[in-house]
Amino acid sequence: MKFISTRGQAEPLGFAEAVAVGLAPDGGLFLPEMLPDLSGELVRFASLDYAALCHEFLRRFATDVEAAALKDIVTRSYRGFTHPGIAPLEQLGENLFVLELFHGPTLAFKDFALQLLGNLYEHQCRVRGETLNVLGATSGDTGAAAIHGLLGKPGVALFILYPDGRVAPLQERQMACTGAANVFALAVDGTFDDAQAALKDVFGDQAFRARHRLSAVNSINLARVLAQCVYYLYAWLRLPPAKRLNVEFVVPTGNFGNVLAGWMLQKMGVPIRGFKIATNQNDILYRLFTTGEYRRAAVIPSLAPSMDIQVASNFERFLYYHAGRDPAQVREILQTFKAAGVYRFDHFDADTFTASHCTDAEISGIIRHVYHKYGYICDPHTACGFKEISRDRVSVVLATASPAKFPDVIRAAIGREPTHPSLEALKSRSVDKHPMKADPAAIKAFIERHGV
Ligand SMILES: *Cc1c(COP(=O)(O)O)cnc(C)c1O
Repeated sequence: MKFISTRGQAEPLGFAEAVAVGLAPDGGLFLPEMLPDLSGELVRFASLDYAALCHEFLRRFATDVEAAALKDIVTRSYRGFTHPGIAPLEQLGENLFVLELFHGPTLAFKDFALQLLGNLYEHQCRVRGETLNVLGATSGDTGAAAIHGLLGKPGVALFILYPDGRVAPLQERQMACTGAANVFALAVDGTFDDAQAALKDVFGDQAFRARHRLSAVNSINLARVLAQCVYYLYAWLRLPPAKRLNVEFVVPTGNFGNVLAGWMLQKMGVPIRGFKIATNQNDILYRLFTTGEYRRAAVIPSLAPSMDIQVASNFERFLYYHAGRDPAQVREILQTFKAAGVYRFDHFDADTFTASHCTDAEISGIIRHVYHKYGYICDPHTACGFKEISRDRVSVVLATASPAKFPDVIRAAIGREPTHPSLEALKSRSVDKHPMKADPAAIKAFIERHGV
Protein backbone atom coordinates (compact mmCIF):
# COMPACT_ATOMS: atom_id res chain seq x y z
CA MET A 1 0.00 0.00 0.00
CA LYS A 2 1.27 3.46 -0.90
CA PHE A 3 0.40 6.74 0.77
CA ILE A 4 -0.29 9.90 -1.21
CA SER A 5 -0.25 13.56 -0.21
CA THR A 6 -3.48 15.57 0.03
CA ARG A 7 -1.73 18.27 -2.02
CA GLY A 8 -0.68 15.91 -4.79
CA GLN A 9 2.85 17.25 -5.25
CA ALA A 10 4.89 14.64 -3.37
CA GLU A 11 5.99 11.12 -4.28
CA PRO A 12 3.77 8.40 -2.81
CA LEU A 13 5.56 6.57 0.03
CA GLY A 14 5.24 3.21 1.78
CA PHE A 15 3.82 3.04 5.31
CA ALA A 16 7.11 3.00 7.25
CA GLU A 17 8.50 5.94 5.31
CA ALA A 18 5.29 7.99 5.52
CA VAL A 19 5.15 7.43 9.29
CA ALA A 20 8.80 8.40 9.71
CA VAL A 21 8.43 11.59 7.63
CA GLY A 22 5.14 12.70 9.24
CA LEU A 23 4.31 15.65 7.00
CA ALA A 24 4.56 15.17 3.22
CA PRO A 25 7.32 17.26 1.58
CA ASP A 26 4.72 19.37 -0.30
CA GLY A 27 3.19 20.41 3.04
CA GLY A 28 0.24 18.01 2.64
CA LEU A 29 -0.90 15.10 4.79
CA PHE A 30 -0.58 11.44 3.89
CA LEU A 31 -3.60 9.31 3.03
CA PRO A 32 -3.85 5.70 1.82
CA GLU A 33 -3.98 5.61 -2.00
CA MET A 34 -7.10 3.47 -1.65
CA LEU A 35 -9.36 2.45 1.24
CA PRO A 36 -9.83 -1.31 1.65
CA ASP A 37 -13.39 -2.69 1.73
CA LEU A 38 -13.91 -4.34 5.12
CA SER A 39 -17.63 -5.08 4.73
CA GLY A 40 -17.05 -8.78 4.02
CA GLU A 41 -14.79 -9.25 7.07
CA LEU A 42 -17.01 -7.91 9.83
CA VAL A 43 -18.44 -11.24 10.93
CA ARG A 44 -14.96 -12.69 11.29
CA PHE A 45 -13.65 -9.56 13.04
CA ALA A 46 -16.33 -9.77 15.73
CA SER A 47 -14.54 -12.55 17.62
CA LEU A 48 -11.12 -10.84 17.79
CA ASP A 49 -9.72 -9.17 20.90
CA TYR A 50 -8.51 -5.58 20.65
CA ALA A 51 -4.89 -6.23 19.72
CA ALA A 52 -5.79 -8.94 17.19
CA LEU A 53 -8.37 -6.66 15.57
CA CYS A 54 -5.84 -3.83 15.43
CA HIS A 55 -3.33 -6.11 13.74
CA GLU A 56 -5.92 -7.33 11.20
CA PHE A 57 -6.73 -3.74 10.38
CA LEU A 58 -3.21 -2.33 10.24
CA ARG A 59 -1.67 -5.12 8.20
CA ARG A 60 -3.76 -3.92 5.24
CA PHE A 61 -1.88 -0.62 5.38
CA ALA A 62 1.54 -1.42 6.87
CA THR A 63 2.40 -3.81 4.06
CA ASP A 64 6.10 -2.94 4.26
CA VAL A 65 6.48 -3.88 7.95
CA GLU A 66 7.39 -7.52 8.39
CA ALA A 67 4.31 -9.50 9.51
CA ALA A 68 5.69 -10.92 12.78
CA ALA A 69 7.20 -7.54 13.72
CA LEU A 70 3.89 -5.77 13.15
CA LYS A 71 2.05 -8.28 15.30
CA ASP A 72 4.58 -7.82 18.09
CA ILE A 73 4.41 -4.00 17.85
CA VAL A 74 0.63 -4.02 18.08
CA THR A 75 0.53 -6.50 20.96
CA ARG A 76 3.02 -4.50 23.00
CA SER A 77 1.18 -1.22 22.30
CA TYR A 78 -1.97 -2.28 24.14
CA ARG A 79 -0.37 -4.33 26.89
CA GLY A 80 0.00 -1.30 29.19
CA PHE A 81 -3.75 -0.60 29.23
CA THR A 82 -5.28 -1.30 32.61
CA HIS A 83 -8.76 -2.42 31.48
CA PRO A 84 -9.00 -5.96 30.04
CA GLY A 85 -11.37 -4.69 27.33
CA ILE A 86 -8.84 -1.97 26.31
CA ALA A 87 -11.71 0.18 24.99
CA PRO A 88 -14.75 -0.89 27.06
CA LEU A 89 -18.24 0.05 25.85
CA GLU A 90 -20.52 0.96 28.76
CA GLN A 91 -24.29 1.21 28.38
CA LEU A 92 -25.94 4.15 30.19
CA GLY A 93 -29.41 4.00 28.66
CA GLU A 94 -31.50 2.14 26.07
CA ASN A 95 -29.82 4.00 23.22
CA LEU A 96 -26.88 5.62 24.99
CA PHE A 97 -23.40 4.16 25.31
CA VAL A 98 -20.00 5.46 26.39
CA LEU A 99 -16.82 4.21 24.75
CA GLU A 100 -14.08 4.61 27.36
CA LEU A 101 -10.81 5.46 25.67
CA PHE A 102 -8.89 6.44 28.79
CA HIS A 103 -7.47 3.20 30.15
CA GLY A 104 -4.00 3.72 28.67
CA PRO A 105 -0.91 4.91 30.58
CA THR A 106 -1.76 8.66 30.46
CA LEU A 107 -5.53 8.27 30.87
CA ALA A 108 -6.52 9.95 27.59
CA PHE A 109 -7.40 8.53 24.17
CA LYS A 110 -4.14 9.74 22.61
CA ASP A 111 -2.45 6.67 24.12
CA PHE A 112 -4.15 4.49 21.48
CA ALA A 113 -2.12 6.15 18.74
CA LEU A 114 1.03 7.16 20.58
CA GLN A 115 1.79 3.82 22.19
CA LEU A 116 1.72 2.38 18.69
CA LEU A 117 3.71 5.25 17.18
CA GLY A 118 6.39 4.88 19.88
CA ASN A 119 6.81 1.21 19.07
CA LEU A 120 6.88 1.91 15.33
CA TYR A 121 9.66 4.49 15.87
CA GLU A 122 11.61 2.02 17.97
CA HIS A 123 11.25 -0.68 15.32
CA GLN A 124 12.34 1.72 12.60
CA CYS A 125 15.47 2.67 14.58
CA ARG A 126 16.37 -0.96 15.10
CA VAL A 127 15.82 -1.99 11.47
CA ARG A 128 17.89 0.90 10.17
CA GLY A 129 20.48 0.91 12.92
CA GLU A 130 19.82 4.62 13.47
CA THR A 131 19.03 6.86 16.41
CA LEU A 132 16.24 9.45 16.47
CA ASN A 133 15.61 12.69 18.35
CA VAL A 134 11.88 13.27 18.55
CA LEU A 135 10.49 16.75 19.24
CA GLY A 136 7.01 17.99 19.98
CA ALA A 137 5.12 20.93 21.44
CA THR A 138 2.05 20.27 23.52
CA SER A 139 -0.68 21.98 25.47
CA GLY A 140 -1.15 18.86 27.57
CA ASP A 141 -2.39 15.40 26.59
CA THR A 142 -0.35 14.81 23.43
CA GLY A 143 2.95 15.48 25.21
CA ALA A 144 2.18 13.12 28.06
CA ALA A 145 1.01 10.39 25.66
CA ALA A 146 4.07 10.83 23.41
CA ILE A 147 6.36 10.61 26.42
CA HIS A 148 4.75 7.40 27.62
CA GLY A 149 4.97 5.98 24.10
CA LEU A 150 8.74 6.51 23.97
CA LEU A 151 9.74 6.11 27.61
CA GLY A 152 12.99 4.16 27.93
CA LYS A 153 13.11 3.17 24.24
CA PRO A 154 16.70 2.54 23.15
CA GLY A 155 18.03 4.80 20.40
CA VAL A 156 15.33 7.45 20.87
CA ALA A 157 15.35 10.69 22.85
CA LEU A 158 12.24 12.81 23.25
CA PHE A 159 12.02 16.56 23.86
CA ILE A 160 8.57 17.91 24.71
CA LEU A 161 8.03 21.67 24.89
CA TYR A 162 5.08 23.00 26.85
CA PRO A 163 4.06 26.45 28.11
CA ASP A 164 5.28 26.74 31.70
CA GLY A 165 2.42 27.28 34.14
CA ARG A 166 -0.24 26.80 31.46
CA VAL A 167 -0.85 23.06 31.53
CA ALA A 168 -2.85 21.32 34.26
CA PRO A 169 -0.65 20.34 37.26
CA LEU A 170 -1.30 16.62 36.77
CA GLN A 171 -0.55 16.89 33.06
CA GLU A 172 2.78 18.50 33.93
CA ARG A 173 3.55 15.71 36.36
CA GLN A 174 2.78 13.10 33.69
CA MET A 175 5.48 14.75 31.57
CA ALA A 176 8.04 15.77 34.15
CA CYS A 177 7.93 12.95 36.73
CA THR A 178 8.78 9.95 34.56
CA GLY A 179 12.31 9.42 35.85
CA ALA A 180 13.26 8.24 32.32
CA ALA A 181 16.72 9.23 31.08
CA ASN A 182 15.63 9.65 27.44
CA VAL A 183 12.73 12.04 28.09
CA PHE A 184 13.08 15.80 28.56
CA ALA A 185 10.21 18.07 29.61
CA LEU A 186 11.09 21.60 28.46
CA ALA A 187 9.02 24.21 30.29
CA VAL A 188 8.94 27.15 27.91
CA ASP A 189 8.58 30.71 29.12
CA GLY A 190 5.57 31.77 27.01
CA THR A 191 2.38 30.44 25.45
CA PHE A 192 1.76 27.23 23.51
CA ASP A 193 2.00 29.25 20.30
CA ASP A 194 5.45 30.58 21.37
CA ALA A 195 6.64 27.02 22.00
CA GLN A 196 5.19 25.86 18.69
CA ALA A 197 6.84 28.74 16.79
CA ALA A 198 10.26 28.04 18.37
CA LEU A 199 9.92 24.38 17.43
CA LYS A 200 9.05 25.24 13.82
CA ASP A 201 12.21 27.31 13.71
CA VAL A 202 14.33 24.40 14.95
CA PHE A 203 12.84 22.16 12.24
CA GLY A 204 13.47 24.92 9.70
CA ASP A 205 17.25 24.57 10.20
CA GLN A 206 17.77 21.77 7.65
CA ALA A 207 21.41 21.14 8.57
CA PHE A 208 20.62 20.80 12.28
CA ARG A 209 17.60 18.68 11.49
CA ALA A 210 19.63 16.24 9.39
CA ARG A 211 22.60 16.14 11.77
CA HIS A 212 20.45 15.19 14.76
CA ARG A 213 17.92 13.07 12.84
CA LEU A 214 14.99 15.11 14.16
CA SER A 215 11.48 13.76 13.90
CA ALA A 216 8.24 15.49 14.87
CA VAL A 217 5.50 14.07 17.02
CA ASN A 218 2.29 15.90 16.22
CA SER A 219 -1.34 15.31 15.47
CA ILE A 220 -1.02 14.75 11.75
CA ASN A 221 0.96 11.49 11.64
CA LEU A 222 -0.72 8.90 9.44
CA ALA A 223 -0.19 6.15 12.01
CA ARG A 224 -2.23 8.10 14.54
CA VAL A 225 -5.27 8.31 12.30
CA LEU A 226 -5.11 4.61 11.37
CA ALA A 227 -4.65 3.51 15.00
CA GLN A 228 -7.75 5.50 15.91
CA CYS A 229 -9.93 3.79 13.28
CA VAL A 230 -9.63 0.57 15.26
CA TYR A 231 -11.61 1.54 18.37
CA TYR A 232 -14.58 2.63 16.25
CA LEU A 233 -14.55 -0.78 14.62
CA TYR A 234 -14.13 -2.54 17.97
CA ALA A 235 -17.03 -0.59 19.49
CA TRP A 236 -19.29 -1.10 16.46
CA LEU A 237 -18.73 -4.87 16.71
CA ARG A 238 -19.68 -4.81 20.39
CA LEU A 239 -23.01 -3.06 19.91
CA PRO A 240 -26.13 -5.23 19.86
CA PRO A 241 -26.66 -6.05 16.13
CA ALA A 242 -30.09 -4.40 16.13
CA LYS A 243 -28.48 -1.07 17.06
CA ARG A 244 -25.43 -1.08 14.81
CA LEU A 245 -26.98 0.42 11.69
CA ASN A 246 -28.40 3.40 13.55
CA VAL A 247 -25.32 4.33 15.51
CA GLU A 248 -23.99 7.87 15.75
CA PHE A 249 -20.55 8.23 17.30
CA VAL A 250 -20.35 11.43 19.33
CA VAL A 251 -16.80 12.76 19.21
CA PRO A 252 -15.40 15.52 21.44
CA THR A 253 -13.42 17.32 18.76
CA GLY A 254 -10.42 19.64 18.49
CA ASN A 255 -8.08 18.89 15.61
CA PHE A 256 -10.60 16.68 13.75
CA GLY A 257 -8.20 13.73 14.01
CA ASN A 258 -10.49 11.54 16.05
CA VAL A 259 -13.68 12.09 14.07
CA LEU A 260 -11.78 11.74 10.79
CA ALA A 261 -10.65 8.25 11.80
CA GLY A 262 -14.25 7.15 12.38
CA TRP A 263 -15.41 8.65 9.10
CA MET A 264 -12.64 6.88 7.18
CA LEU A 265 -13.74 3.60 8.72
CA GLN A 266 -17.26 4.28 7.46
CA LYS A 267 -15.78 4.74 3.98
CA MET A 268 -14.19 1.30 4.36
CA GLY A 269 -17.62 -0.29 4.39
CA VAL A 270 -18.54 -0.31 8.09
CA PRO A 271 -22.19 0.78 8.18
CA ILE A 272 -22.04 3.57 10.76
CA ARG A 273 -24.99 5.96 10.55
CA GLY A 274 -23.12 9.13 11.41
CA PHE A 275 -20.88 11.26 13.59
CA LYS A 276 -21.55 14.16 15.88
CA ILE A 277 -18.82 16.75 16.07
CA ALA A 278 -18.95 17.98 19.66
CA THR A 279 -16.87 21.12 20.24
CA ASN A 280 -16.36 23.35 23.24
CA GLN A 281 -16.64 27.14 22.94
CA ASN A 282 -13.87 27.06 20.32
CA ASP A 283 -16.39 26.04 17.75
CA ILE A 284 -14.96 26.58 14.26
CA LEU A 285 -15.98 23.02 13.32
CA TYR A 286 -19.47 23.41 14.78
CA ARG A 287 -19.93 26.51 12.66
CA LEU A 288 -18.49 24.77 9.62
CA PHE A 289 -20.80 21.78 9.80
CA THR A 290 -23.91 23.80 10.60
CA THR A 291 -23.41 26.75 8.21
CA GLY A 292 -20.78 25.66 5.66
CA GLU A 293 -18.53 28.56 6.66
CA TYR A 294 -14.98 27.80 7.77
CA ARG A 295 -13.86 30.94 9.56
CA ARG A 296 -10.80 31.38 11.74
CA ALA A 297 -11.26 32.89 15.21
CA ALA A 298 -9.11 33.48 18.30
CA VAL A 299 -8.76 30.61 20.76
CA ILE A 300 -10.47 31.17 24.11
CA PRO A 301 -9.13 28.91 26.91
CA SER A 302 -11.82 26.55 28.19
CA LEU A 303 -12.44 23.81 30.77
CA ALA A 304 -11.72 21.27 28.00
CA PRO A 305 -8.21 22.51 27.06
CA SER A 306 -7.30 19.68 24.66
CA MET A 307 -10.06 20.93 22.38
CA ASP A 308 -8.92 24.58 22.47
CA ILE A 309 -8.13 24.66 18.77
CA GLN A 310 -9.46 26.87 16.00
CA VAL A 311 -7.72 25.58 12.89
CA ALA A 312 -8.14 21.81 12.75
CA SER A 313 -5.02 20.42 11.09
CA ASN A 314 -6.57 17.04 10.21
CA PHE A 315 -9.46 18.71 8.39
CA GLU A 316 -7.25 18.77 5.29
CA ARG A 317 -7.61 15.00 5.00
CA PHE A 318 -11.41 15.28 4.97
CA LEU A 319 -11.13 18.11 2.49
CA TYR A 320 -9.29 15.86 0.06
CA TYR A 321 -12.23 13.48 -0.15
CA HIS A 322 -14.77 16.28 -0.09
CA ALA A 323 -12.98 17.87 -3.07
CA GLY A 324 -13.47 14.65 -5.05
CA ARG A 325 -9.86 13.53 -4.44
CA ASP A 326 -8.62 16.50 -6.47
CA PRO A 327 -5.38 17.87 -4.93
CA ALA A 328 -5.52 21.02 -7.07
CA GLN A 329 -8.85 21.90 -5.50
CA VAL A 330 -7.44 21.15 -2.02
CA ARG A 331 -4.56 23.55 -2.64
CA GLU A 332 -6.92 26.24 -3.90
CA ILE A 333 -9.26 25.98 -0.91
CA LEU A 334 -6.33 26.08 1.54
CA GLN A 335 -4.86 29.10 -0.19
CA THR A 336 -8.14 30.99 -0.11
CA PHE A 337 -8.57 30.15 3.58
CA LYS A 338 -5.02 31.20 4.40
CA ALA A 339 -5.37 34.53 2.63
CA ALA A 340 -8.91 35.45 3.71
CA GLY A 341 -9.28 33.52 7.00
CA VAL A 342 -12.57 32.18 5.68
CA TYR A 343 -13.91 29.69 3.12
CA ARG A 344 -17.52 28.88 2.22
CA PHE A 345 -18.49 25.31 1.36
CA ASP A 346 -21.70 24.44 -0.51
CA HIS A 347 -22.89 21.56 1.53
CA PHE A 348 -21.92 18.74 3.82
CA ASP A 349 -23.72 15.48 4.19
CA ALA A 350 -26.11 16.45 6.99
CA ASP A 351 -27.16 12.85 7.53
CA THR A 352 -23.56 11.82 8.25
CA PHE A 353 -22.42 14.84 10.25
CA THR A 354 -24.22 16.62 13.03
CA ALA A 355 -22.58 19.10 15.40
CA SER A 356 -22.93 20.68 18.82
CA HIS A 357 -20.99 23.22 20.85
CA CYS A 358 -20.67 23.67 24.57
CA THR A 359 -19.75 26.64 26.77
CA ASP A 360 -17.80 26.27 30.02
CA ALA A 361 -20.95 26.85 32.07
CA GLU A 362 -22.69 24.09 30.12
CA ILE A 363 -19.76 21.72 30.69
CA SER A 364 -20.13 21.96 34.47
CA GLY A 365 -23.91 21.55 34.21
CA ILE A 366 -23.57 18.48 32.01
CA ILE A 367 -21.04 16.82 34.34
CA ARG A 368 -23.56 17.31 37.15
CA HIS A 369 -26.53 16.12 35.08
CA VAL A 370 -24.78 12.99 33.77
CA TYR A 371 -23.67 12.14 37.30
CA HIS A 372 -27.15 12.51 38.78
CA LYS A 373 -29.03 10.84 35.94
CA TYR A 374 -26.68 7.91 35.19
CA GLY A 375 -24.29 7.80 38.15
CA TYR A 376 -21.50 8.32 35.64
CA ILE A 377 -18.63 10.80 36.05
CA CYS A 378 -17.37 12.24 32.77
CA ASP A 379 -14.39 14.51 32.19
CA PRO A 380 -14.88 18.06 30.77
CA HIS A 381 -14.02 16.98 27.18
CA THR A 382 -16.40 14.04 27.26
CA ALA A 383 -19.06 16.30 28.79
CA CYS A 384 -19.23 18.24 25.50
CA GLY A 385 -20.39 14.99 23.88
CA PHE A 386 -23.41 14.75 26.16
CA LYS A 387 -24.86 18.02 24.85
CA GLU A 388 -28.11 17.46 22.88
CA ILE A 389 -28.03 13.65 22.68
CA SER A 390 -30.04 12.49 19.66
CA ARG A 391 -33.53 11.08 20.33
CA ASP A 392 -33.75 8.94 17.23
CA ARG A 393 -30.28 7.50 16.94
CA VAL A 394 -28.15 5.18 19.05
CA SER A 395 -25.43 7.40 20.54
CA VAL A 396 -21.96 6.20 21.44
CA VAL A 397 -20.17 9.04 23.25
CA LEU A 398 -16.40 8.76 23.07
CA ALA A 399 -14.94 9.34 26.55
CA THR A 400 -11.61 10.89 25.59
CA ALA A 401 -10.06 11.40 29.03
CA SER A 402 -10.43 10.09 32.56
CA PRO A 403 -12.24 12.47 34.93
CA ALA A 404 -9.38 11.89 37.39
CA LYS A 405 -7.18 14.13 35.21
CA PHE A 406 -9.43 17.12 35.98
CA PRO A 407 -10.18 16.88 39.73
CA ASP A 408 -10.87 20.60 40.22
CA VAL A 409 -13.52 20.84 37.51
CA ILE A 410 -15.22 17.67 38.70
CA ARG A 411 -15.20 18.73 42.35
CA ALA A 412 -16.75 22.10 41.45
CA ALA A 413 -19.50 20.31 39.50
CA ILE A 414 -20.47 17.39 41.73
CA GLY A 415 -18.76 18.00 45.07
CA ARG A 416 -16.49 14.96 44.96
CA GLU A 417 -13.15 14.26 43.39
CA PRO A 418 -12.35 11.22 41.24
CA THR A 419 -8.90 9.72 41.76
CA HIS A 420 -6.72 7.27 39.89
CA PRO A 421 -3.86 5.25 41.39
CA SER A 422 -1.38 6.23 38.67
CA LEU A 423 -2.04 9.94 39.29
CA GLU A 424 -1.85 9.54 43.06
CA ALA A 425 1.60 7.97 42.66
CA LEU A 426 2.74 10.97 40.60
CA LYS A 427 1.95 13.43 43.36
CA SER A 428 4.82 12.24 45.54
CA ARG A 429 7.46 12.24 42.78
CA SER A 430 9.85 15.12 42.14
CA VAL A 431 9.24 17.32 39.09
CA ASP A 432 12.17 17.15 36.66
CA LYS A 433 11.57 19.95 34.17
CA HIS A 434 13.96 22.14 32.22
CA PRO A 435 12.98 25.83 32.15
CA MET A 436 13.73 27.29 28.75
CA LYS A 437 13.28 30.55 26.83
CA ALA A 438 11.08 30.22 23.74
CA ASP A 439 14.29 30.59 21.76
CA PRO A 440 15.34 28.21 18.96
CA ALA A 441 19.05 28.64 19.80
CA ALA A 442 18.51 27.60 23.42
CA ILE A 443 16.45 24.58 22.35
CA LYS A 444 19.09 23.50 19.84
CA ALA A 445 21.83 23.83 22.46
CA PHE A 446 19.81 21.62 24.78
CA ILE A 447 19.37 18.97 22.09
CA GLU A 448 23.11 19.11 21.29
CA ARG A 449 23.79 18.32 24.91
CA HIS A 450 21.14 15.69 25.64
CA GLY A 451 20.21 14.12 22.29
CA VAL A 452 21.12 10.66 21.02
C1 LIG B 1 -6.78 15.64 21.95
C2 LIG B 1 -8.04 15.52 22.72
C3 LIG B 1 -9.30 15.79 22.14
C4 LIG B 1 -9.44 16.28 20.71
O1 LIG B 1 -9.10 15.29 19.76
P1 LIG B 1 -8.89 15.68 18.22
O2 LIG B 1 -8.38 14.45 17.57
O3 LIG B 1 -7.91 16.81 18.22
O4 LIG B 1 -10.22 16.11 17.68
C5 LIG B 1 -10.44 15.60 22.91
N1 LIG B 1 -10.35 15.20 24.20
C6 LIG B 1 -9.17 14.95 24.80
C7 LIG B 1 -9.15 14.54 26.22
C8 LIG B 1 -7.96 15.09 24.09
O5 LIG B 1 -6.79 14.84 24.70
